[in-house]
Amino acid sequence: MYFPPLDIPLSLSANFGELRPNHFHMGIDYRTNGREGLNIHAIEDGFVSRVKISPFGYGKVVYIDHPNGITSVYAHCSKFLGKLDSIVSLQQIKEQNFEIDFKPDSNLIPIKKGEIFALTGNTGNSSGPHLHFELRDTKTELALNPLVNGFDVYDTIPPTIQGIKIYALNKDVYRWPNKSKIANVVRNKNLYSILNNKLTLTSDYCSDGGIGFSLEAEDHINGYTHDFSYFGSILLVNNDTVFIHENDEISFDGSKFINTHEDMDEYRKSKRKFQKSFKTNENYLESYSTSKKGIIPIQPKDSLHVQYFVYDTHNNQSELSFDLKVLPGNPNKNVFNITNCILPNSKFTYQDSLSTIEIPEGCVYEPVSTNFQAKTNITIGSNGTAIQLPIQVKLKIRNSELPLEKYFIKVGGNNKYLETTYEDGWLIAQSKYLGTFSIDIDTIAPVFVASNFNQNDSIIKKSILTWKISEEKTQLKDYDLFIDNEWQLLEYESKGSYLYFNKPKDLKGLHKIKLIVKDACENARIWEKDIWFE
Ligand SMILES: [Zn+2]
Repeated sequence: MYFPPLDIPLSLSANFGELRPNHFHMGIDYRTNGREGLNIHAIEDGFVSRVKISPFGYGKVVYIDHPNGITSVYAHCSKFLGKLDSIVSLQQIKEQNFEIDFKPDSNLIPIKKGEIFALTGNTGNSSGPHLHFELRDTKTELALNPLVNGFDVYDTIPPTIQGIKIYALNKDVYRWPNKSKIANVVRNKNLYSILNNKLTLTSDYCSDGGIGFSLEAEDHINGYTHDFSYFGSILLVNNDTVFIHENDEISFDGSKFINTHEDMDEYRKSKRKFQKSFKTNENYLESYSTSKKGIIPIQPKDSLHVQYFVYDTHNNQSELSFDLKVLPGNPNKNVFNITNCILPNSKFTYQDSLSTIEIPEGCVYEPVSTNFQAKTNITIGSNGTAIQLPIQVKLKIRNSELPLEKYFIKVGGNNKYLETTYEDGWLIAQSKYLGTFSIDIDTIAPVFVASNFNQNDSIIKKSILTWKISEEKTQLKDYDLFIDNEWQLLEYESKGSYLYFNKPKDLKGLHKIKLIVKDACENARIWEKDIWFE
């Protein structure tokens, strides 16, 4: 039995495998009564193996390795306590950085089962106070579903099914363009069917490939009003198992395959979340088991019996079953067009006098058509399309009137800054999204304003000093506070963009204070003043 990570009754706000932008939810979220500062307990004996502090992602997060081969992860903390806190502070001072990714030796921070080592919070990409809790296999780093690994919840309610979607697929399990349809379902207790119990497909759904299905369903847990993600689904056709999907473990590389597991086109269009029961050769998500990739060959006039089972971790189950009829007519004799396409199973390089794009093998999920032209910008796919591996983009600076570091590459409709380097008059960046890439310049330093004191005052009585930061075009690269030329720890919170200085208790009297804030294009703003601390 593990020790519960919180003192309060454990209450879930999200479970494992939930569909998030660009990733699966790799743990569970526990409510913290809407507040920060609740005690976090170690679930088992062990030692702190990693501490990461970042204004993004998991915020302040602690990893504890246990003797049973499991690592427990506690994210979005507000504060560390005791020995952990003092060792982390020393590390930050040593690195002169608030943001650290620190892996202490196994004997440095031992932890006892039940020990309180941190307080809950809302740091990083968190939209409200909660504890994000994960279990991982220490060796493989696979994230494990806590609900089936010692953190069970009482649940007698089966998942509900909202709809299914049917796709025409080619022999490589790529979707034929504009050849899919949604069927909504009717419910009778835990049995679901299609209206009139029958679904028809036109004969042009038949090709050298077959058809595939995706499922829109969600789980419900006793005592909760909001929905959760279901644990697993099984697709059977004519009593033959075609595809099993089960959220028992997911790797961090695997998590990105959500961009092909979920029907993202449908999500962008209607906000409905369909999870596919078919996969391409290049989809290595761990949570599938299938021998046939989920593709179902069909002929005109075929009749199939389709069954979908969807279940939660307690095996509460709902079933959808219906007959599928293929109408008579001509099958689709076209050849799947992959000319001018970037393909999932090969690398791709484009080069002209102004731009170079390098796309590694296994980057896109399905063929992406492309039409390059030497222009001031270059477009690959559509803005915001997530890819499995980053691509490299090089753009040539044509008239460099400014120092090189003022130029950067941006991507997409929202002109997102990409971390840019320089080489022989070229800008180089990696991108995790497709879209339109172009060059921009930034010559303006970030702006900061004191938000809980007056920057003109010469006497400060506050114990915490706060500044609000804004950076228009790129991103904050560095922020440093010096008092009498000595580096001080500043905390940066990306939500709302604030810098915090927790004034040491013994800091009193007259001191020289200097704050430097720098963006990615080396534009720096400096504020210096002699201040009397009360
Ligand atoms: Zn979470």
